[in-house]
Amino acid sequence: MIEKKNFYINGKWVSPSKPNNFEVIDPSTEDPFAIISLGSEQDVDDAIKAAKIAFESWRETSKEKRLSLLEKFDEIYNRRWDEMVNAQSTEMGAPLDYSSEIHTKMGADISKNTLKILKDFNFEHQFDIKSNNHIRYEPIGVCGLITPWNFPMNQIVLKVIPALAAGCTMILKPSEIAPISGVLFAEMIDEAGFPPGVFNLVNGNGEVVGNHISGHPDIDMVSFTGSTRAGKLIQKNAADTIKKVTLELGGKGGNIVFADSYPNAVRDGVRHIMSNSGQSCDAPTRMLVERPIYERAVKEAVDEANKIKVDVASKKGDHIGPLVSKIQYDKVINLINAGIKEGATLAAGGPELPDELNKGYFVKPTIFTDVNNDMRIAREEIFGPVLSIIPFETEDEAIAIVNDTSYGLGNYLQTEDKEKAKRVARKLRAGTIFINGQGADVGAPFGGYKQSGNGREGGIWGFNEFLEVKAITGWKN
Ligand code: NAD
Repeated sequence: MIEKKNFYINGKWVSPSKPNNFEVIDPSTEDPFAIISLGSEQDVDDAIKAAKIAFESWRETSKEKRLSLLEKFDEIYNRRWDEMVNAQSTEMGAPLDYSSEIHTKMGADISKNTLKILKDFNFEHQFDIKSNNHIRYEPIGVCGLITPWNFPMNQIVLKVIPALAAGCTMILKPSEIAPISGVLFAEMIDEAGFPPGVFNLVNGNGEVVGNHISGHPDIDMVSFTGSTRAGKLIQKNAADTIKKVTLELGGKGGNIVFADSYPNAVRDGVRHIMSNSGQSCDAPTRMLVERPIYERAVKEAVDEANKIKVDVASKKGDHIGPLVSKIQYDKVINLINAGIKEGATLAAGGPELPDELNKGYFVKPTIFTDVNNDMRIAREEIFGPVLSIIPFETEDEAIAIVNDTSYGLGNYLQTEDKEKAKRVARKLRAGTIFINGQGADVGAPFGGYKQSGNGREGGIWGFNEFLEVKAITGWKN
């Protein structure tokens, strides 16, 4: 059993103020594999106090000093790669290859990209050639960073590394469901030698630790990734102190497959939604298929879903793993049953455990056809390997269906007609539109319209979120 009960506060690993053990479950086996502590308000206060004191000197550090520490971190992250692969695989059920090539690599890519942004960034410049006004970008202050379990390192690195680069200090609260990679990350920050108090980690749940962070008067900004439900609570709790709140929330992505799509578009769409066992905020969960190719698309989708293997995370290979937890498993199975009850056709998968697995939170790749956009499976974020297929007749109808959701994170479209692709991409209301399976570049902005959130992460856009901009007049050169 792994024991990671201490918190990282003011440059030291310290015991929680009150013992409160919490077992971390391996979702492939349903057995506990690690113990952490759930923190208290006192632990949060201690971490924020350290961050507030450290801010006074960290914000004055030179770009070169920050770069050298971040480069050191980057080297350590790459050196301890296998530990990170194993931690994420066991805590959230990602098969080992996926944990390495996607989860762990995302962290490395973001770290590298942030180094480049910091190198190129100009923290001060003249407002205008004819003006004596001067513009300065300054770190926003002490940040509260709250992250989910579905891409643990992606989310942590996307927040912590740009915040450090900007000159902010912080408290990180990773998801209590998948906290081991967060503890390992804190060990790497410690090894890199950042000054005490600049980065602090307190594990805990949302109700106590998360809530105390978002309402705390000494937190200047909360950067949150997680459910829309928790995002609303955080925004309300933060309101009294007028702190900045950025929110990366849920999604219900539409994927329009036009009749003139490239040959593998349907199969790629199925693979995409099933990856990470469907636990991706920007997953293409509603596939809209143009009527003339509907029958063929359904056959291909079912065939592809049936080819996807489900197995334990500790095995290598291109299978998908379990869902992260019993709560998540129950939620997904309930929604599959809701789809059956509402009259959608269950064309692949279903609520039973996959063959040969009688333990673990496994769900079969599931496909519903003849779905309409009013059904719960088309409206609610399922966060499991479940695809809804919806037929459409016209381009305008497809756009209307995709936009008919309270979310707006990622939408997809497939067509060989490049003018149609651009036209439709402009009309879809989401932070990212993916055309013909093309992925987003590292450093592209990522975030949501509508109830998918506020603000952007990634690249210069994510970096800017951690900065205030100051205008100074009468500046003589
Ligand atoms: P969650 O909202 O339950 O928890 C996320 C984090 O918030 C955890 O650390 C949790 O402890 C904390 N939390 C919960 N309630 C809180 C509260 N009242 N105050 C403060 N903190 C609180 O979400 P989850 O189940 O861990 O993650 C899945 C969700 O995250 C999905 O909805 C998914 O779409 C979303 N997500 C969004 C993005 C994005 O970039 N938009 C990326 C990944 C995941």
